[in-house]
Amino acid sequence: MKAVVYHGPGDLRIENVEAPVLKEQGDALLKVSYCGLCGTDVKTYRRGHHMFTPPCILGHEVVGRIVEIKGKPEKSDIAVGDEVAVAPYVPCYGCVYCRKDKEELCENKGWIEGAFAEYVRIPSEVLSKGTFRVPSDKHLKLACLSEPLACCVNAVLDSHVGLSDTVMIIGAGPMGLLMLELCKTIGASKILVSEPNALRRSKAAESGALVFDHWDEGADVSSWVKDETDGVGADKVFVCVGTVDAVNSGFGCVRKGGVVNIFGGLPGGSGLTIDPHILHYDEVIVTGSFGFTPRRFHTALTMLTSGTIDVGGIITHEFDIDEAKEAFDMASSGEALKILLKVDGNA
Ligand SMILES: [Zn+2]
Ligand SMILES: [Zn+2]
Repeated sequence: MKAVVYHGPGDLRIENVEAPVLKEQGDALLKVSYCGLCGTDVKTYRRGHHMFTPPCILGHEVVGRIVEIKGKPEKSDIAVGDEVAVAPYVPCYGCVYCRKDKEELCENKGWIEGAFAEYVRIPSEVLSKGTFRVPSDKHLKLACLSEPLACCVNAVLDSHVGLSDTVMIIGAGPMGLLMLELCKTIGASKILVSEPNALRRSKAAESGALVFDHWDEGADVSSWVKDETDGVGADKVFVCVGTVDAVNSGFGCVRKGGVVNIFGGLPGGSGLTIDPHILHYDEVIVTGSFGFTPRRFHTALTMLTSGTIDVGGIITHEFDIDEAKEAFDMASSGEALKILLKVDGNA
């Protein structure tokens, strides 16, 4: 089968590789329709990633059609022919973190393999816990956003965003924009965005956010946020950029007793200095969110396919699998938002 094989930073090759073999009862074979380029894939392509040792196949935001199931799956009603969105990993539901209702931190996750390929094996565990039907063909592309939106659902629920909250989003890349739409859907009353890229800024403004527009004047984001919040600061701040500077600017934008959620991953070892005054006297809660649970993946998929969240505009480009390198170069340029790789649009 055709696959996009990652051989190291900057080196992606379209190759013919062995199609996956179903191993256990209940394993399924997915014929891939679309697979989204995630920030993690792009980071890996640009500078490598500790989680991926080349040569390997990347890609995890996948939708497609089930074309084979080994034996009779015990705990799944998914059948051959179904079009599905697949959570790239599922929790064990047995470890200490799963028992503490933090399934995204599970220590025994079951994973799918890389999905920038014509076929991918869905292990029986992922079929039963994390594979969900997509209601119709016309929802397939949107369903590709289930995984990134599920990460946002995780963050927004864990940070208790609700009606009347003023939310500040730092960084309006695909994740920041998904976060914006989700906060709107969940009832945030005012959303502020800071983003240096003009294209991304205009997308955020189109979506109803107030955007910080004084980049050239050297104005300070935190004083702008104070101006917009009666001098108080934002209730919830999501830092959707993986830099220390972005996190620091988040500290300047939050109100007393508010939440700063470090949502973008920073490189390991990034030092962060926090003035303990903001934790003690101001009671600011500093937290982070990573990943999702199957339930939240399903929530995201349902929101996308039922139309309660309008994020179609975030998908700006679509490339054929043969153009994978162009797709990754485009993603690296910052001139695109979400990019999908089309493997077989008619799978
Ligand atoms: Zn992703
Ligand atoms: Zn577990």
